[in-house]
Amino acid sequence: MVSAMTAPKADNITWHTGEVDRDTRASAHGHRGAVLWFTGLSGSGKSTIAHRVESMLVDRGVFAYVLDGDNIRHGLNSDLGFSPEEREENIRRIGEVARLFADSGAVVLTAFISPYRRDRERVRALLGQGEFVEVFVDTPLEICEARDPKGLYKKARAGEISNFTGINAPYEAPRSPEVHLETADLGVDEAAAKVVRYLATHDILGDP
Ligand code: ADP
Repeated sequence: MVSAMTAPKADNITWHTGEVDRDTRASAHGHRGAVLWFTGLSGSGKSTIAHRVESMLVDRGVFAYVLDGDNIRHGLNSDLGFSPEEREENIRRIGEVARLFADSGAVVLTAFISPYRRDRERVRALLGQGEFVEVFVDTPLEICEARDPKGLYKKARAGEISNFTGINAPYEAPRSPEVHLETADLGVDEAAAKVVRYLATHDILGDP
């Protein structure tokens, strides 16, 4: 059964605070931990851009790591489908994993459609001030559908996939994302560079 509860079910558990605080971790890594939360339609370019950003960050010596949608659904979230409740639980678990990564000092990049505003705001609320960076990969449906890298739009239009975002399930666009990428006008490198610039000017990355 899917549970979206956040309060622990178990009794007698306490949160253990370690000896290393965030500032110490940040100075050891040379940058802060953060979650770059990419959101957008299927085929908008979340995964492609997130991996390019990851590569640019790793080149600068940053501890960066992409949590990719399909990979997580193969493992951690293999019990979840695409109903609204299951999508909510999918994002909740990923948010918790992302928070742990950020707490470890990583710059974690997530590439999930995450269509519901409320679910994204819940993840934001898990993180500290400035640690949640919402990256809206804003690509018009027509372009996503023309790219159709996995052939999913074709299947959805043929009625072979239910609950497909943009076709027969809603997408709630961010109202004020930290980074807004309009990929109709931005190449992958330009889009990735825009994300890295944001991190450099918002006290997440140290000097190159
Ligand atoms: P998502 O992770 O959002 O489902 P993907 O990154 O898997 O999307 O697929 C996006 C596809 O669009 C890729 O094949 C990518 O090469 C292509 N593409 C073309 N132009 C761009 C662009 N400007 N930004 C991002 N992706 C682009």
